[in-house]
Amino acid sequence: MMNCKEISRLASERFDRELGLLERMRFRMHVLMCHHCRRYARQLAFLRRAIRRLAAARATRGPRLSAEARARIARRLDTATQDPR
Ligand SMILES: [Zn+2]
Repeated sequence: MMNCKEISRLASERFDRELGLLERMRFRMHVLMCHHCRRYARQLAFLRRAIRRLAAARATRGPRLSAEARARIARRLDTATQDPR
């Protein structure tokens, strides 16, 4: 059986390339038995979907914030990190 380190690598790689039959079987077997890897694989899939949705939303949305608004937010963030409460 593959260990968790190998499985976490496959969990990521399966989004970049098609896994071989043996890899897919080993991955599924491991994930069935290991809730840590199951959770990790689920979180990766969730993140990937969220990032894709965000990218799609960014591509279709209207005007962006003005330079003034961005500067104002940046100043507020600076203040917040200097004086956290
Ligand atoms: Zn595992």
